[in-house]
Amino acid sequence: MVGKILLILLILLKKKSNRIHSSINFDACRERLIMRIDLHIHTSPRSACSYLDPLELIQEARRLKLDGICLTEHQVLWDIGDVEKLAKDGGVKIFRGNEFTTNQGDILVFGFYKDIKELLMIQELREEVIAAGGFMIAAHPFRGFKTFGIGQLQMTVEQACRRKALEYVDALEIGNGKLSTGENDMARKVAGRLDLPGTGGSDAHRVDEIGKWVTVFEKEIQNERELVQELHAGRFTAVEMS
Ligand SMILES: [Zn+2]
Ligand SMILES: [Zn+2]
Repeated sequence: MVGKILLILLILLKKKSNRIHSSINFDACRERLIMRIDLHIHTSPRSACSYLDPLELIQEARRLKLDGICLTEHQVLWDIGDVEKLAKDGGVKIFRGNEFTTNQGDILVFGFYKDIKELLMIQELREEVIAAGGFMIAAHPFRGFKTFGIGQLQMTVEQACRRKALEYVDALEIGNGKLSTGENDMARKVAGRLDLPGTGGSDAHRVDEIGKWVTVFEKEIQNERELVQELHAGRFTAVEMS
């Protein structure tokens, strides 16, 4: 009798471990995920806080074998002609985005080409971006959430889910190269709880910060229109590269 129970337990355990194993089949994942793009980068002089020269950025992105990079300056949109000049030697695709400062924090926006310099109300930005068919990501949504020190007055996942900005975005940045593991983990948990997709980007301001986190897409992306299309389709995964 005891032997029989043990046998049943063993079979159940084996079934469970098989299930866990198949859900993390890395090779299967690798075949599906084909395009590594750093979605969040600041260059100098367009972002005043950045020390990253655009030419240095391209060289480093090629060395890291990134497939694409996104120029997401602070409320400055790159001129398409300048981007084409920068991309002329090939090897890495360059896409334009924008990082807007809103009353509810920083928001990465793709597929929206209006030049706005002033601080925005997130509701207004949302309306304009939806009308343009663009995509909005809450950048580093929980940066500094442990302001009061570990173990004290920490925000719970439930509280974090109630952040206003999350009502107005299509995705959350769950991997930001400038944030601590704890801060990124909180974003990942919140994204899971709210069933929102998660992106990754380095938020690089210096050459050695490029590619720390990337977003890996399942399809080949040739231009900004396709990038926005794949973002809306949710066919991507945030991956830490370090
Ligand atoms: Zn920011
Ligand atoms: Zn940024």
